[in-house]
Amino acid sequence: MGRMCCYDLHAHSTASDGTLTPAALVEKARAAAVDVLALTDHDTLDGIAAARQAASRPGLVLVPGVEISVNWNAMTLHVLGLNVDPDHPALLAGLRELRRTREQRAIRIADKLAGAGIPGALEGARRQCNGRILSRTHFAHFLVASGRASSVRDVFKHFLVKGRPGYVHSDWVPMEQAIDWIRAAGGLAVIAHPARYRLTRSKLNRLVGAFREAGGLGLEVVSGSHNRDETLHMAAVSRTHRLFASCGSDYHGPEKPWVELGRLRALPEGCTPIWQADGWPVAAAA
Ligand code: AMP
Ligand code: MN
Ligand code: MN
Ligand code: MN
Repeated sequence: MGRMCCYDLHAHSTASDGTLTPAALVEKARAAAVDVLALTDHDTLDGIAAARQAASRPGLVLVPGVEISVNWNAMTLHVLGLNVDPDHPALLAGLRELRRTREQRAIRIADKLAGAGIPGALEGARRQCNGRILSRTHFAHFLVASGRASSVRDVFKHFLVKGRPGYVHSDWVPMEQAIDWIRAAGGLAVIAHPARYRLTRSKLNRLVGAFREAGGLGLEVVSGSHNRDETLHMAAVSRTHRLFASCGSDYHGPEKPWVELGRLRALPEGCTPIWQADGWPVAAAA
């Protein structure tokens, strides 16, 4: 018997708001003894080809994925698509539309910041992202680099969030639509970091119900942004609602040292892992 297989099914690269290139992320995963890694950049599949190239040597299986920004019940949520076909036309077209939404949102964020006495944020954020998707993370890096905040964490307390300078409401895509794209592209839809949304019990039940109804399959029970109690709570939710359980670090790079690639709690007792679902890639089911 070999050791247990190490899965990390949620990670970002420079294709979105991570700081390692797709190839460097794959090498980092190898070094961390990850057996199965999903690259799940926000609203883009642009990193997949380079990650696949880097994963062509044996020892690590790359699962092509994406983290889609969606709206449900007037909130923003994130839905992971795992094992999607990165060339699927409907998925690609949908993500292209979301990136347009991001560009328009970035202009509104910069206008709001300018109104609060912080000019040049659009150009500043663009410098941080090297022409890839513009995320609030890049605005955060700009605000830190220009001395407006002491850390990215600090930015998400004092800027860019509801009631603070630089906040804008975003219209992404309805959750059901994103699930359709993922399924059309052969992927499995998973609710990312469910405890982060701070939903009441009844709202969480409604979300999970709507998600299942629309063809969603999994819940990210173990996440880099869940503590132990949140993990146990989400494990119970996954069992009650018969959702597969997923696990991912949500790694964004070495700048956030409290989140490590491949350093994850085991799935709690009684969860059914997403790698036992129909449609999971055979090579990655070790
Ligand atoms: P966006 O999708 O452009 O709205 O940006 C959301 C991203 O901002 C998330 O994916 C995280 O990477 C980052 N983020 C959100 N909240 C925080 C936080 N409190 N601390 C650090 N990063 C955060
Ligand atoms: Mn992010
Ligand atoms: Mn997320
Ligand atoms: Mn993420």
